[in-house]
Amino acid sequence: MEQAIVIGAGPCGLSAAIELKRMNIEPLILEKGSIVHSIYRYPTFLQFHSTAELLEIGNIPFMTPHDKPTRLEGLTYFRTVAERENLRIHTYETVTSLQKEGDRFTLHATDRFGRIKTYTAANVVVATGYFDHPNYLDIPGEDLPKVSHYYQEAHPYAGMKVAIVGGNNSAVDAAMDLVRVGADVTVIYRQNELSRYVKSWVRPVFESMIAKEHVRMLFHANLLEIREQDIRVSVAGKEEWIANDFVLALTGFRPDRTLLEAAGVSFHEQTGGPVYNPETMESGIPNLYIAGVVAAGSRANEIFIETGRFHGKLIAQSIASKADPSLFF
Ligand code: FAD
Repeated sequence: MEQAIVIGAGPCGLSAAIELKRMNIEPLILEKGSIVHSIYRYPTFLQFHSTAELLEIGNIPFMTPHDKPTRLEGLTYFRTVAERENLRIHTYETVTSLQKEGDRFTLHATDRFGRIKTYTAANVVVATGYFDHPNYLDIPGEDLPKVSHYYQEAHPYAGMKVAIVGGNNSAVDAAMDLVRVGADVTVIYRQNELSRYVKSWVRPVFESMIAKEHVRMLFHANLLEIREQDIRVSVAGKEEWIANDFVLALTGFRPDRTLLEAAGVSFHEQTGGPVYNPETMESGIPNLYIAGVVAAGSRANEIFIETGRFHGKLIAQSIASKADPSLFF
């Protein structure tokens, strides 16, 4: 039996594993993709909005000559930290079930060859993030191949008519990139103004692009239907058809609660977030802990690396305070 299993090798799962090691508890991390798989899937040329210092885990310095690190620097940092800390990580293993019987958790995982593996653990930390679960629009045509909920880079959209749905950083960054490669960009956003979270140094540049009509910004607008060559949009209650080649629905993500639900964790009625003790991050199921953005309620952005990285220490302290060495063999 493992002393502790951490599900998810994102920044918050890695942080929890490092803090556990520092308490002489040797965790095993199960990760369905690569290390920090979510960051790997960020837009290729992304620059974090956080400074490097605020992304550090395990008090290990994150050095960069830039004001804010790039995605590539983030990948290098988290990968190197995992290696230097000798973290035990089984990558490409997806945890598919989590159950508790008596004092022991049983987990089933499927590796990339379809083989099923069974693990048992005294403690489990669920740090599965949110990046695999975009907020779908649930409109006709959303399943067409021209629609994506992830943005990688601008080049494929050169000269194309692209509609971007959303008004937060992802949508604004993508729109600005696309304008630079000569795409014809329409941004569709249901609110009356850009999100207040749009990076302060980006907002004026984007607003100037709108003013100069390099981007067509539709506020109070909803995308209603997507077809191969056009889209139907309602703007302030009036519907119109717009010619279109690609749709980028950059409407954010929501945590997947399947494993927590299966293990019997309760959820807040109003926010939908899991019930846990904020001092220890322990759920109502003893020895089942929640780390990172999966702990958030309906507003997933309320927890991010800057804040979720501290969950690990609380968890490690709680597990260490309860540890009975005879349990671990
Ligand atoms: P994740 O990083 O999502 O990690 C979860 C891991 O669990 C993943 O590797 C996933 O593959 C794995 N996993 C999921 N399910 C399973 C399973 N069943 N079995 C095994 N493994 C599983 N935050 C900041 O603080 N600063 C920023 O500048 C910043 N910039 C961002 C830019 C973009 C474009 C985006 C999308 C987000 C940004 N964020 C930023 C938010 C940040 O990425 C997330 O808050 C962070 O990734 C959360 O970390 P996590 O460890 O909780 O989850």
